[in-house]
Amino acid sequence: MSEKRTEIGAIGEFGLIERLNEQIKIRQKGTLKGIGDDAAVLDAGDMVKVVTTDLLLEGVHFDLSYAPLHHLGFKAVAVNISDVAAMNAIPTQITVSIALSNRFSVEAVEAIYAGINAAAEQYNVDVIGGDTTSSRSGLVISVTAIGEVEKGKEVYRSGAKENDIVCVTGDLGAALIGLQVLEREKEVYMANPNMQPELDKYSYVTSRQLKPDARMDIIHELRDLEVVPTSMMDISDGLASELFHICKQSKVGVTIYEDKLPIDKQTFDTAVEFNMDPITCVLNGGEDYELLFTIDQKDFDKLEKHPDIHFIGHITKEDSGKFLVTKSETAVELKAQGWVHFNQK
Ligand SMILES: [Mg+2]
Repeated sequence: MSEKRTEIGAIGEFGLIERLNEQIKIRQKGTLKGIGDDAAVLDAGDMVKVVTTDLLLEGVHFDLSYAPLHHLGFKAVAVNISDVAAMNAIPTQITVSIALSNRFSVEAVEAIYAGINAAAEQYNVDVIGGDTTSSRSGLVISVTAIGEVEKGKEVYRSGAKENDIVCVTGDLGAALIGLQVLEREKEVYMANPNMQPELDKYSYVTSRQLKPDARMDIIHELRDLEVVPTSMMDISDGLASELFHICKQSKVGVTIYEDKLPIDKQTFDTAVEFNMDPITCVLNGGEDYELLFTIDQKDFDKLEKHPDIHFIGHITKEDSGKFLVTKSETAVELKAQGWVHFNQK
């Protein structure tokens, strides 16, 4: 008897999640949202708790030949805090689980934890538990983050409405370009270990790749300004891919404008140096951990002057489709070419 075998690459990461989700049944009344957003949402009286988890694997998500251990510890926490932020929640606790091979010394593990503790301090969270085990292959770090927000103020991917304004924070594409630089320097170093990598002129893009920052500052500012986005998520897989999630879950369309997309000068220049299209990097580059959100037009005045929030387009009817208006004013259909973790080479 031959069993059916489907390659994971054939359906992709999101396809796999969808398929597994079909088998999951919600049994608890307190589970307000399970799989399908940046974090799960649990009833906690006047508040809701959000819970999110991420797994970082050596050789898939990071390369120890250029990722310093303390940055890695910081990043493992920051990417989870980013998902808490994406729910409009404030992080409170994390758990940290680590699998190590015997090539790690106690000092190396301490370096990872120094990064974890630095992130815990920056984001004001407590490390409340976890697990440590041995690994036969690479290093594995898994962090779970818990956060909270007043009930009704949590923000899902599904709340965008026609005419809402599409906002992104910071600038995009830098983490992808940083990865290109680090990969190139690694190759140069492997070919000639006496060569010192020249990373100074790429410091912004490489730091965006190695030590991303979760935008809790924006969440606190939105609170102060009394703005609750209508939908939100963090940009871990690329802007276009995340816009597709918001459109799908909110049942809307979107139009964004090329000339409004935020890109840093170093990202732009380095993309050109690598013969990459800077706009493609902005649309499809992963791991920037900026926030993508939509606001009701009535809130525009409150955010208009914010130096780090960019208004890149607006939400349309679902049957209007998803478009990018280029600088030459042609509308091209958006393609979601997200970050592919499976079959990545
Ligand atoms: Mg996310």
